[in-house]
Amino acid sequence: MRQVLHAIGINNPSEKAAYKEIRSAAGRLTVSSEEESKTNSLAPEDLSLYIHFPYCERKCPYCDFNSHALRTKIPEQEYLAAILWRLQRQAERVENRVLRSVFFGGGTPSLLSPRAVGIIIDGIGKYFSLAEDCEITLEANPSSAERRGFRDLKTSGVNRLSIGVQSFDDANLRFLGRVHNATQARVALEQAMRIFARISFDLIVALPGQKNDELCEEITRALEYESEHLCVYQLTIEKATEFYRQATRGLLQIPTPRRAAEIYLLVEQQLRAKGFANYEISSYARSQEAQARHNLVYWRYGDFIGVGPGAHGRITLAGKTFTTLETRKPERWLAQAQSEDEQIQKQKELSAQEKFEESVMMGLRLAEGLPIQIFNRHARELIDDMRAIGYCEKKSSRVCLTIEGRLRLDTIAAELLVACEKTREKIPIKGESMQSMQGAKTNKV
Ligand code: SF4
Repeated sequence: MRQVLHAIGINNPSEKAAYKEIRSAAGRLTVSSEEESKTNSLAPEDLSLYIHFPYCERKCPYCDFNSHALRTKIPEQEYLAAILWRLQRQAERVENRVLRSVFFGGGTPSLLSPRAVGIIIDGIGKYFSLAEDCEITLEANPSSAERRGFRDLKTSGVNRLSIGVQSFDDANLRFLGRVHNATQARVALEQAMRIFARISFDLIVALPGQKNDELCEEITRALEYESEHLCVYQLTIEKATEFYRQATRGLLQIPTPRRAAEIYLLVEQQLRAKGFANYEISSYARSQEAQARHNLVYWRYGDFIGVGPGAHGRITLAGKTFTTLETRKPERWLAQAQSEDEQIQKQKELSAQEKFEESVMMGLRLAEGLPIQIFNRHARELIDDMRAIGYCEKKSSRVCLTIEGRLRLDTIAAELLVACEKTREKIPIKGESMQSMQGAKTNKV
């Protein structure tokens, strides 16, 4: 349901020159000492759970998620039995660790009956220890059939709803191939807000040819609702999608990186003026409590179990961190689950270097940034240079990107990792001392 990220990069000569300067400065540095031996301990305490539901009413033309248009009716009973079986198996691996958040994503999990969602939540409670304030989010679409189930979803145990609004404009919704219209989006939001204390909804911006006044209108309409949380994604063209096929034939053009940056700034400015903080590149919250606890676990590089077709997970067991990936095709996954086939989940141990790189890329997305001591001396020099030109700032012992830096996230992350590479053998990623980065990376974001 959620899709699309930020096509923001360095795109003009003066910015490129600034980077060239930084890189050559980094190149002149010499290596020494033990200060490089600070590290990323990546020892997460919190545990989260992601449940993937792979079906949608139809496939949106921009979507590259593991989501499949329903051709027949939902195999709800089989799915339920398989999910419960997977939950039990995964719970055995993590013993008594406490679940802090659960996320039903997809696909369109609101196509599941509230009764089925309730059975899954009961199963989670049976197999895992749940934190008292466990955040339980479910992604929902605004169609009328799904809206009718909102109250029962709450009764089933869901305490946060994430709604795929995407736009308040019918023409945009048609372009995005959505099954709902703008009126349905509004009704769904109003209804959800009467039922749930915690609501988030998604918007997709940077559509081809979208003008500033159209964008402002979209944000103004979004602000009419008192939702505590909002995600604003920029449309990107992903391989193996209908939009990709159109783009390769020259039938579709998304905004240039420069225009994408303008759009990002405009959205940020409008939302900030109305009390939203941009705590992650695409995520805005009215308060710290309103931030998506589940997604913070991804970005802070915490542990999460992933179950369901194509679900990713990351779990630390006996000091080793593994990524997991369940069988992608829904029919195959259902068949494997029912036959208790252990091939249903592939597992790979992450090297210290991989963990470090992923945690840097994830952590830089967050306004809270990363602890400076995870970086070696080269990277810290680079951080000082970037501070001088306004791309990042230090807040106590952390480094975080300014809005100018966020516009260049990918390049900055790459530059920092290059700087760390310079003394890879001395980079301290063996797990000794970095203070807990508590939390972060994702299944579908
Ligand atoms: S509803 Fe969401 S998950 Fe389903 S096809 Fe559309 S964008 Fe993808």
